[in-house]
Amino acid sequence: MAYSHVDKPIKIGNVQLKNRIVRPAHGTNHGKGFINDDLIAYHELRAKGGVALSVLEVGSVHYTTPFSVNLFDPALESGYRKLVDTCRPYDMKLFQQLWHAGHNMFPLDGSPPWSASDIPGRFGNVAPIPMTKGMIDEIVESYAICAKRCEDYGLDGIDVQGGHGYLIAQFLSPLTNKREDEYGGSWENRSRFLMEVMHAVRGAVSKDMVVGIRISPDLLTGGLGTEEYSHVADMLTDAGLIDYVSLSFGNYHMFPFITSGMDAPMGYELPTSVPVTRRAKVPSIVVGRFRTLEEADQIIRQGDADMVGIVRGLIADPDLVSKSLAGKAEEVRPCIGCNQGCAAGALVTGHMECTVNAAVGRERFMGEHLLEPTAEPKTVLVIGGGPAGMEAARVARLRGHAVILTEAAANLGGTVEIAKRALNRHTIGDITDWLEREIYRLGVDVRLSTYVDADDVDAFGADEIIVATGSLPRMDGIQVSHPQAPIEGIEARHVLSSHDLFTSPTPPAGSTAVVIDDAGHFEGIACASELLRLGFKVTLITQMPGLAPQLHMGGIIEPALNRMFKAGGFDLRVRTRAISIGDGIVHVGPESQWYKDGPCEYDIPADVVVFVSTNRSNRDVYNALSEKRSDIKIVGDANSPRYLQVAIREGYMAGAAV
Ligand code: SF4
Repeated sequence: MAYSHVDKPIKIGNVQLKNRIVRPAHGTNHGKGFINDDLIAYHELRAKGGVALSVLEVGSVHYTTPFSVNLFDPALESGYRKLVDTCRPYDMKLFQQLWHAGHNMFPLDGSPPWSASDIPGRFGNVAPIPMTKGMIDEIVESYAICAKRCEDYGLDGIDVQGGHGYLIAQFLSPLTNKREDEYGGSWENRSRFLMEVMHAVRGAVSKDMVVGIRISPDLLTGGLGTEEYSHVADMLTDAGLIDYVSLSFGNYHMFPFITSGMDAPMGYELPTSVPVTRRAKVPSIVVGRFRTLEEADQIIRQGDADMVGIVRGLIADPDLVSKSLAGKAEEVRPCIGCNQGCAAGALVTGHMECTVNAAVGRERFMGEHLLEPTAEPKTVLVIGGGPAGMEAARVARLRGHAVILTEAAANLGGTVEIAKRALNRHTIGDITDWLEREIYRLGVDVRLSTYVDADDVDAFGADEIIVATGSLPRMDGIQVSHPQAPIEGIEARHVLSSHDLFTSPTPPAGSTAVVIDDAGHFEGIACASELLRLGFKVTLITQMPGLAPQLHMGGIIEPALNRMFKAGGFDLRVRTRAISIGDGIVHVGPESQWYKDGPCEYDIPADVVVFVSTNRSNRDVYNALSEKRSDIKIVGDANSPRYLQVAIREGYMAGAAV
């Protein structure tokens, strides 16, 4: 058997899991506080895909910690019952995570958050109310009420969130617990709240209900390391309070490590998890950017854990387990570790999506499971073999159309082919590699090195045309903050685009460089990192208030900043615009239009300048074809240069609409 360790049942408490793949709790925010049909459809698809256990996202136990599933509200009962009934036929067990965020969340009534002490949370930055004994008792009781409710609703288990810097961890950690009563000071006192919660939960449910704890060692000085959390696991096991222990890593002070991006290696959480799991006397779960059953099998084989949690891999492809067990691992759509659609989506836009899977969060009306074979097969011409074009071709082909895809370059992949050359960014190319494999496997007629313009199209005899001709850097020197004042000297020979930097056969000459980042995504970081690698002293200037705000909450910025500063010779100037480029210098000033000439302008040495701004669409073919026909579709950057996520979504929609 290919996955002999993964594809093996395991019993935790009184519940039998059919295999060892778990989806630990992860915020989707699809329910917006409720269990709605969007959330049910999202989980149902993963249940169908062969996952043994799913832990539902943070279930709020009290009105002081509202978020995506407000379990404290009895109105959620019907939603829970529908979710359980929907997933039951697929034998995927359902646990609910019980959660109180403490100082990381604001109560529904707008009052201050509650915590062990008055230490503010990193993101809310509001001093919380140090909980009185009455408040502690109220929260402990709310855990018990919610645990009981979960059993009544038909769920199989409870996963108490004891890590990630939430309320239980705020009591455990001396960094956030400054109390002088019986809940503060000694370890025994700091763990009192945890023990009270766990006794209340265990006591509220029957023996058939599994109870486990999620914990996450951090690396903060004076924080909660592997020793402390090993102790937690031992205490709870010895007291007969838990049936399993689930490991994660980090808290809000090291947010990027909770869900590290594509710069983190597979298993990056193991060094802090394995010391706990190997000591654990109950079954254990680990996570760590695992994407394949092969990796999971290895973890179990080597004795690092009994079960493996895969979240993002199963967001990207709900059928990861079933495809792999069926010997089709190559067909699994890979998670690229970008964190844009999922982590940033759930936290910033309030709705989790996925960069590589357009259907995530839309499972009720979109996705391969809903694609129907066409009754009228057509010939579809897709012009352009980047991610949008390949996705359009793939989906049109899945529906049964004959698809011809032309690409002017000698290879597929479009801009991703350039993006994946950046340091710590190579796995972005996994999705275009997958798309390429899939369109060949499905029988798309791919024609490389084939430039097509409007006059060539008739020869293909296509019934439908989808234009996906991408975009190119705009090197006109226009910055968002000052459209009336393009950068003087932008046309100089030592001014490069990101494409120039990454595709030129020879590296630029010199020792100093300025990256002008007017886009605020990863492109500026990629260019600065590359120049640092080449030995340049680099100053990154951006008119934005911080580095790469488009990546906010994706867990990408902090590791990148850390790497760049560690490399030496890196400087960052925010709210700064380029005014002119001269020989060996960039003249800069504040980005604000309120500022007029004055002493705030200065020069930065620059033998090389890289200008990063929003790209310009390649719409010529589309414009010319639209003169002749009104039914031409345009997708991705050709439509408007945005992000990979939008390109793939538009490709999907165009392919499905043919
Ligand atoms: Fe993976 Fe990116 Fe999709 Fe998240 S958005 S699941 S990181 S591909």
